[in-house]
Amino acid sequence: MTAITAIPVALGNRFATELPELAVPWRAEESPDPTLLVLNMELAAELRLDPTALRTPAGVGLLTGTTVPEGATPAAQAYAGHQFGAYSPRLGDGRALLLGELEDEHGRLRDLHLKGSGRTPFARGGDGLAAVGPMLREYIVSEAMHALGIPTTRSLAVVATGRFVRRDEWLPGAVLARVASSHLRVGTFQYARATGDIGLLRRLADHAIERHAPSAADDAHPYLALLRAVISAQARLVAQWMLVGFVHGVMNTDNMTISGETIDYGPCAFMEGFDPATVYSSIDAGGRYAYGNQPAIAEWNLTRFAETLLPLLAEQQDDAIALALEALGDFAPQHRAAWSAGLRSKLGLRADDDGQEATLVVDELLALLESGRVDLTSGFRSLSSVARGSSEAAHGLFDHRAAFDAWAERWLALRPDADAMDRVNPVYIPRNHLVEEALAAATEGDLDPLGPLLDAVSRPFDEREGLERYAAPGPERSFRAYRTYCGT
Ligand code: AMP
Ligand code: MG
Repeated sequence: MTAITAIPVALGNRFATELPELAVPWRAEESPDPTLLVLNMELAAELRLDPTALRTPAGVGLLTGTTVPEGATPAAQAYAGHQFGAYSPRLGDGRALLLGELEDEHGRLRDLHLKGSGRTPFARGGDGLAAVGPMLREYIVSEAMHALGIPTTRSLAVVATGRFVRRDEWLPGAVLARVASSHLRVGTFQYARATGDIGLLRRLADHAIERHAPSAADDAHPYLALLRAVISAQARLVAQWMLVGFVHGVMNTDNMTISGETIDYGPCAFMEGFDPATVYSSIDAGGRYAYGNQPAIAEWNLTRFAETLLPLLAEQQDDAIALALEALGDFAPQHRAAWSAGLRSKLGLRADDDGQEATLVVDELLALLESGRVDLTSGFRSLSSVARGSSEAAHGLFDHRAAFDAWAERWLALRPDADAMDRVNPVYIPRNHLVEEALAAATEGDLDPLGPLLDAVSRPFDEREGLERYAAPGPERSFRAYRTYCGT
């Protein structure tokens, strides 16, 4: 392996050089028999990487971290975090590496990061590895989220390593190559703050401002402006999740980005029958990260973020706290506004129509969805046909026909725009049973189910013949029993 010459990629090491206290230079473990399972050609082009070169042994070496270009400084990143509410002072990349930063075709800096690349000094009891199934889950779901227009880390490739990893059973191992606008997390700030080194905290905040909130640099209060920018980004992000029924599953502070991108797809899933209490993670017995709890948890996490910034907000702690609380007070109204505007768009109404009738129509639809546990995705998608004069599909989904028809009459009086609805209500989401089917097959070496699933979710609004199976809800009631596991 070491004889292979790395493909020429300009990998920067800004994080490692600007924030050395948070970066442990480290190398990926060798992969005994690497096989490229899936490569994101579109994303490779965006990153100005040659897809043909990525398929060569040297390219696969880059995607597994075993052949890196000269000058690169792969590093494990340090972070802390609240996991299910309990603080861990030292988490960090236990099985991941930041290979470096690269400039994409738009001149934006993007992190190239690996997951499953071997133990690091942050591994604690973990083996540093990842299995094919969970890495492909992250690939499928993150690409689906991107296609839905939701900020997210992206997936460049999944490479099977040829090594078996021990979970409940022995499973084929894999490395995911992930791309993000950065890997700064709320937990990164918690770690920096806990060191007591205010200079480090300031450097981290400045780094974050440069990458994610450049206009904050010119603000009279740059760090307050950073806090406000992160609050706004997360308020919008979580609203976008909720509008498509996405349940993240592990909204720990180490899994919440400063960029406002969705990160770390573990026990995540899309809700089918509408029920705010929906939980998918097998270890979330208390429902902390249930669908309907996500805004409250985001606000809780942002409060932890604000706490880390206090020394930078004002000289006096009381003043800093007052500023932080005022900024945090904007979360709920911003989230509600994004959610309500999104719902109105889903109903073909003007996003800014906050009149009484539009508000009532939205609220009553949510009540209908919930009382009938209607499949969120096909339920909303069926409504554009109603707007075009055909209620057949909707009648098959909404249980209480008389209540639905009465509701529809009032809604239609508002003259919804059916074409606009089809641009925001997806036909295809990565449905749990289809994701499981593709992962189970891939684990057995069969990649056939993966292709059409990726094809469907990559163009989610574009209904296509032959893909009916990808639009249909899962077998009845299966959503109730569905669990995704944290043992990834
Ligand atoms: P996650 O639940 O994937 O967000 O990970 C939480 C923490 O556990 C992070 O610090 C990970 O690096 C670490 N971790 C998860 N799985 C492993 C593993 N198999 N080996 C080492 N560290 C791991
Ligand atoms: Mg994580």
